[in-house]
Amino acid sequence: MNVGIKIPAVPLDAALAYAALGVKVFRVRRDKAPYANCPRCDMKSSIYIKHRPEDCRCGVPTCHGFWAATTDTGLIRKWWTEEPDANIGAPCKLNGWAVLDIDPRHGGDVSLRRIEERVGLLPGTCMQITGGDGLHILYLSPGFDLPGEPFPGVEFKHNNYIVLAPSLHASGNRYKWYGDGRFYKPEVAWPATLLPRKERPRVPGRPRTQQSLSGIRRPGKHWTVQTLVQHVMDASEGNRNASLYFAACRAQETADQGFIDLYEAETALAAAGSAVGLGDGEIIATIQSAASRPSDKTWRAA
Ligand SMILES: [Zn+2]
Ligand SMILES: [Zn+2]
Repeated sequence: MNVGIKIPAVPLDAALAYAALGVKVFRVRRDKAPYANCPRCDMKSSIYIKHRPEDCRCGVPTCHGFWAATTDTGLIRKWWTEEPDANIGAPCKLNGWAVLDIDPRHGGDVSLRRIEERVGLLPGTCMQITGGDGLHILYLSPGFDLPGEPFPGVEFKHNNYIVLAPSLHASGNRYKWYGDGRFYKPEVAWPATLLPRKERPRVPGRPRTQQSLSGIRRPGKHWTVQTLVQHVMDASEGNRNASLYFAACRAQETADQGFIDLYEAETALAAAGSAVGLGDGEIIATIQSAASRPSDKTWRAA
């Protein structure tokens, strides 16, 4: 049973407590600057040897950021003896996690509300309050890549890392686990409703629409993410919101026909909206209203 553990306040003890649960950790500087690479791993060095971080054999286990993460108590003691105040980082994917990172300073709380209005409440799981008043919601990794920042202020952290309690945030506040302050190892699967559409389990009884309105499927005659983005970028001032709405509606339809990935399209459209000067709130509201048009029968909450 997952009863959770109380995480000690001293960073070394906390890092050892995580490692004892099988959580791989590594040192993170307060300012997030990485620990130095050795010359063979430093791309700017003259003796740099090209290699993938996961294949590194240099024997200096701080060379590649979160790839150095470990449960080795000897190494953990060494790191935090050298730097007793270092923060504790944990890679997401390497620990089998995928994390929803909600940043209210960039509208993440509004986005989260809209996501839940759309897909229903997210399953309860282990959560952490970041020192910056953000929220980390930890799920099990779905095993494949997720879009990085699908909504304003919301990041899907997967192929990167998070900082763990009791680390100190730049604001001066400490990260802490939600609720009773204990850490519960994530055991809940990443919500199917947040998977890219192509990875979602098929809903029985819902044939995929593969035909255009005229009944003839015309490959090559559909919108692409690029042409949708271009539509928003080309809009005249005063017409930008309407163009974003138009593009978001077309994205829904085109994704439903299986030609594009909806998350990818919405992410790109949000970025395009931002690039032409629309505010985050306006962008979310516009994309959301395109997604929930009464005529749109494609949405189905799982
Ligand atoms: Zn190295
Ligand atoms: Zn290396």
